[in-house]
Amino acid sequence: MKRIICLFFGHKYSLAQKLTDHSRRICCTRCRQSFAMNDDVRAVLPWDASFHRLYESQGVKIEYQTWEFSGSPIKAQGEQP
Ligand SMILES: [Zn+2]
Repeated sequence: MKRIICLFFGHKYSLAQKLTDHSRRICCTRCRQSFAMNDDVRAVLPWDASFHRLYESQGVKIEYQTWEFSGSPIKAQGEQP
């Protein structure tokens, strides 16, 4: 139901973590979906394990907020970091 509201009215974004000077992870406080936001390409894409690995490989320590989705997508996939 919450996702339906987001579908019609748009997500209610809140900053989850600043990753670099030009990118951040944002999360919808309503449906708890996380997104990767990049100022350079002006893109907002669903956050997944590949983003986690991408930023981690750039030396960014990824820290998830308790109010974000269900935790790390890496753990959700059952993968080793
Ligand atoms: Zn939402």
